[in-house]
Amino acid sequence: MFYYSTNAQAPLATLKKAVQKGLAEDRGLYMPQRLPSLSAQFLGSMKNLSLSEIGFQVARAFFGEDVEETALRRIVDETLCFPIPLREVEKNIYALELFHGPTLAFKDVGARFMARMLQYFRHAEGDGRTVNVLVATSGDTGSAVANGFLGVEGVRVFVLYPKGGVSPIQECQFTTLGKNITAIEVDGVFDDCQALVKSAFMDAELNQHMVLTSANSINVARFLPQSFYYFHAIAQLQQLGFDGNEVVCCVPSGNFGNLCSALFGHKMGLPMKRFIAANNENDTFFRYLQSGVYEPKHSVATIANAMDVGDPSNFARIYELYGKDVDAIRANISALRYSDEEISETMCQCMQQTGYILDPHGACGYRALKESLRRDEVGFFLETAHPAKFRDTVQRITGHEVPIPERLQAFMQGTKQSIACQKDFEAFKDLLLRT
Ligand SMILES: *Cc1c(COP(=O)(O)O)cnc(C)c1O
Repeated sequence: MFYYSTNAQAPLATLKKAVQKGLAEDRGLYMPQRLPSLSAQFLGSMKNLSLSEIGFQVARAFFGEDVEETALRRIVDETLCFPIPLREVEKNIYALELFHGPTLAFKDVGARFMARMLQYFRHAEGDGRTVNVLVATSGDTGSAVANGFLGVEGVRVFVLYPKGGVSPIQECQFTTLGKNITAIEVDGVFDDCQALVKSAFMDAELNQHMVLTSANSINVARFLPQSFYYFHAIAQLQQLGFDGNEVVCCVPSGNFGNLCSALFGHKMGLPMKRFIAANNENDTFFRYLQSGVYEPKHSVATIANAMDVGDPSNFARIYELYGKDVDAIRANISALRYSDEEISETMCQCMQQTGYILDPHGACGYRALKESLRRDEVGFFLETAHPAKFRDTVQRITGHEVPIPERLQAFMQGTKQSIACQKDFEAFKDLLLRT
């Protein structure tokens, strides 16, 4: 399979190149040249298959031409090493709990998959060069990537995060690891971190000096594997007796990698009725659906900070996937947005009415689904992080004590180590060249 750039000005890339480069030469995002289809037999028997078997079948459709089968199966098994249960919150509304992984957020799936894919290319193709992974984070990406890549030989990870912009628990998860993980504290906001990473990929001198790639959801090895759990969610709903074609899926969205992987699944034949993108006040996609004009803006800080993205990078992929046609997008996807106040209100109401504790991101998803679900539909929203990851916020808003899971406690005992950096590119480049 070859990958083309959404900007259409770069040569086609192999999977290895797309994973090792992250972003294409023309700053576009890589897209698979074909949408692989899944057999009717697989789609028909899905409800009887395990998460790992479903993951493998979907992975094979995307990567089967480029990764040897037994290796691919191992990569999938090592990625899907934790359960992804679908929990009923109230009648016809389910939460897909993606937070049972090592760092308690959905990004563990993509990060683990991508780390193992890089390792595979290193061994299978005898390419001994060190790959440097740059990742900009508003909190959750950094921890998932750092942990997914920790100790992976031949890979160094640089995590860029906004000073004062991530919660103490999140910060511990990528600043205390050491080994091949370096944390960089940028004097700016998340968009500045993302801009530094993008500029680094475009800098000729840096690229001559080192192999650089991205582990943000611009990387195909990070976002495509996220489609696995949508198949599994539908399989679980089918098992409960629902028909995929009545299912509405609601995704709390920031950079839109997660929603985008669901849309790929749908285009590959996964039965689903429609999608909802839930936004916080960073509502670029919501406004796009209304006006038909894509107008990015600076991100604003909210209590659902992993969604504080003003210019979602995967918009380019969604646009491409729907033939650059806003009406085709509107026919399949709607969007809703919520203020911090509405998010808080939702967290309290849901807890009081159902006993389910939402984190601020999942709260956007739950509310958007609840507000727009029709009687003849069943829906699930993604609970993208464990409420303990946003413990202070959740406790303050709901007044309910959230215990810290052991896995999180372990991180908090480490010592914080990070390098301070200005938000201008020259400072960042110097730092990379020196380390
Ligand atoms: C990253 C993240 C999101 C947003 O996901 P995208 O793929 O960037 O849209 C939502 N919730 C949580 C908890 C996250 O960590």
